[in-house]
Amino acid sequence: MKRDYYEILGVSKSATADEIKKAYRKTAMQYHPDRNPGDKEAEEKFKEAAEAYEVLSDTDKRAKYDRYGHQAFGPGTGGGNPFGGGGMDMNDIFSHFGDIFGGGGFSDFFGGGGSSRGGRSQGERGSNLRVKIRLNYEEMANGVTKTIKVKKYIVCSTCHGSGAKDKGSIHTCKTCGGTGQVRKVQQTFLGQMQTVVVCPTCHGEGSTISAKCTSCKGDGRVYGEETVSINIPAGVYDGMQLSMSGKGNVGLRGGAPGDLIIAIEEEAHAELHRDGLNVGYDLFISIPDAVFGAQVEVPTIDGRAKIKIPAGTQSGKIFRLKGKGFPEINGYGRRGDQLINVNVWTPQTLSSEEKASMEKMKDSPNFQPQPNKSEKGFFDKLKEVFS
Ligand SMILES: [Zn+2]
Ligand SMILES: [Zn+2]
Repeated sequence: MKRDYYEILGVSKSATADEIKKAYRKTAMQYHPDRNPGDKEAEEKFKEAAEAYEVLSDTDKRAKYDRYGHQAFGPGTGGGNPFGGGGMDMNDIFSHFGDIFGGGGFSDFFGGGGSSRGGRSQGERGSNLRVKIRLNYEEMANGVTKTIKVKKYIVCSTCHGSGAKDKGSIHTCKTCGGTGQVRKVQQTFLGQMQTVVVCPTCHGEGSTISAKCTSCKGDGRVYGEETVSINIPAGVYDGMQLSMSGKGNVGLRGGAPGDLIIAIEEEAHAELHRDGLNVGYDLFISIPDAVFGAQVEVPTIDGRAKIKIPAGTQSGKIFRLKGKGFPEINGYGRRGDQLINVNVWTPQTLSSEEKASMEKMKDSPNFQPQPNKSEKGFFDKLKEVFS
């Protein structure tokens, strides 16, 4: 649920434009990213305030908001957003701050695009990479190590990621003297501020390149292949995503690699079906086995198991193999069960001899269904299974 814009800035609905501006200035200073480095909550509050100000400082938008609330800015039921689907990002904020500060924008002023501010940073972070891995029931239940080849950007072996032809082609940046940062003093809406910003010449890398590596054309990376060993824990399920930090694409010029995202896909089992932590199996037995009882073999996740069918077993009976289901991921050993649903097989063709003997049994009282006497109903069985 989105918060009320007036509430965010702590002003009344009748606040003047000047009061709104003052309130915003106060909030922006309080939650400013440079004052709260790495504080996600402060960053959210900072963005929230920027969004509120964006609307309330604009006469048209404010009038719309007063009339329709958050709905005014989007078709969604949970309240619209004046900045489209993903909300307002730092760049939006910077661009709109540019108007107020009358300068080169917020990013100049506060130094970079929010996440990459300050400090000497090597290259540019690589992107995340997605792979799908198909697992059978046994692998999902017990965990498995999969070794796969991943096509991705890898470090250029010629220049080892620097992007330069040789050591002599790398020069300390003259603008920042190699620190990757420059200081800036500016008179602004928020008062006079001295800030450290990313060097515009080297983009924070601290060095410039005069001759590029010919193998990677200066990127410091090439498209290639890496063999990755993935430890998949027990209990994963279809649609689940695992993430391996640093195994994605390598960044430009020695930039940190992105992550490898592994999407789990379930390989259907020929006989079993998964239902959460439980495993279901449809067992078919013959009429004589149902009548006399039998020992039968059923498939489980870990191979076959023998179960005893007692004499007089009805169709629809559910047997439970405790703990033969899937483990809960990080579930401290908690496991589901295997549920075996008994189906008594009714023959579809009979010889004349078989027909004759069935005819003989037809009128015997033992063959008349007596569900109240011997068997629990469907709902009782459900209760039993889920108790
Ligand atoms: Zn290279
Ligand atoms: Zn520089």
